[in-house]
Amino acid sequence: MTLKPKALLAAIMFTAIAGLDADPIQADVPDIELPDIGDSTGTLMTPQQEMELGAAFYRNLHAQMEINSDLEVTDYIQSLGSKLTANSDTPAQPFTFFVVNQQVINAFAGPGGYIGVNSGLILLSEEESELASVLAHEISHVTQRHLFQTFQAASRMAIPSALAMLGAALIGAKGGGDAAMAAMMAAKGASQQYQIDFTRDNEVEADRVGMQIMSKSEFNPRSMPAFFERMQQSTRFAGNRIPEFLLTHPVTVARISDTRDRSEHFAYKQYPDSMAYQIIRVKLRVITAPSPRNALDYFLTMHNRGTGQQQDVMAYGTALAQSKLGQTEKAKATFQRLVQTYPHQSQFMNALAGTEMDAKNFHKAAELYELALQRFPDNQAMTLNYVRALLNTQQAAKARQLLHGFLKHHPPTPDVYELMAETYSKLGMEGESHRYYAEGYYLLGQTKSALLQLQLAKRVAGNNFYLNSVIDERMEHWRSQEMAKKE
Ligand SMILES: [Zn+2]
Repeated sequence: MTLKPKALLAAIMFTAIAGLDADPIQADVPDIELPDIGDSTGTLMTPQQEMELGAAFYRNLHAQMEINSDLEVTDYIQSLGSKLTANSDTPAQPFTFFVVNQQVINAFAGPGGYIGVNSGLILLSEEESELASVLAHEISHVTQRHLFQTFQAASRMAIPSALAMLGAALIGAKGGGDAAMAAMMAAKGASQQYQIDFTRDNEVEADRVGMQIMSKSEFNPRSMPAFFERMQQSTRFAGNRIPEFLLTHPVTVARISDTRDRSEHFAYKQYPDSMAYQIIRVKLRVITAPSPRNALDYFLTMHNRGTGQQQDVMAYGTALAQSKLGQTEKAKATFQRLVQTYPHQSQFMNALAGTEMDAKNFHKAAELYELALQRFPDNQAMTLNYVRALLNTQQAAKARQLLHGFLKHHPPTPDVYELMAETYSKLGMEGESHRYYAEGYYLLGQTKSALLQLQLAKRVAGNNFYLNSVIDERMEHWRSQEMAKKE
């Protein structure tokens, strides 16, 4: 297979940004070394380039689908994923795990260790080990370099088409699939239908390696064949289409029975679910339900099933829905009881303060978040919620301080930049405000809107030398990426 250096160069220009840098004000555009094309080891991209392609892939996904921005959900999926990758063959390799709000049953791995899992798949899982089995399988596709062939194909075309192809292939948007992705494919002029053909050997290897990772990470390897089988059976119900996951990772009866045989070699023991898993599933149900009323009806039919702890988690879901429906006192009573019973479970404390936000009692909410953060000082979700409460109580200076502290320790997200922009606007610093809106749009894959915000920032930046130089640097960088995309 021959590689065209020019297309690859475009790929590098397009992605030449440390996408996860904690503070882009100081971020230098990295020096890009030209890759060895077709060298003796067959290396197509340096790890740095692969990370950059991954970051671009992730930004583009934001433009195409609803990536879950709830920090309790992302925190959970990232910590579950990290538990597994710590026991992979390449524990130092960085991975980013995220949840897509989509009922379609799917999970996918992109370049640079970006692994997405749909809310529908999480809700279909009945044990934490089942969810872990899908993540372990995807992790193994990455660590075993199964995506390599895709990169080879991608490097032969212009990078936007390559990204469109990667996006479409990885999330399984083939005929009748995701309409947005199909539209994107058309818009980018990708004339052919592409899909990743993980070979049968790839799949078997991902199962095998995945089960080893699961066992080392204290998850039940037997849950892998069980979950795959349930996914397959779910298609037998009238009207259900085949889960996308089974289209992108074809599961056959023979493969399930092979996997089951292999899983029997691991010693049998009990694998209790973490409470965080149960809580996050319930929270996802509220987030993705058609309406809070719909979620409430579901929990009311479930409330007296399962163990005492499971019933408490259902009560949490009920109260989340009640809070959204304005039934503040009922919700508060439940959360207060849960906070007392489970003082180490941060989600209950966060939810209690959240009822005050839902009821627009922002002063009370700010007080509660401040207290909560004393107990859980590093909690990301609480920190940003506290910022929201501060912005609603004219305490923008304090909000700014918290946000800058947050960005020192955590990768930026579109939400953080939006809060930053709101904060600076309230402080009367409109140039900085537009500049942070620009960063937010950029992470959302909307570079044109980002550039527009930079122009607005430029208009009010006056003789602020520091701000002007940041704006100029970002403008030049993003414009060159846009140019590379057009090429
Ligand atoms: Zn697979």
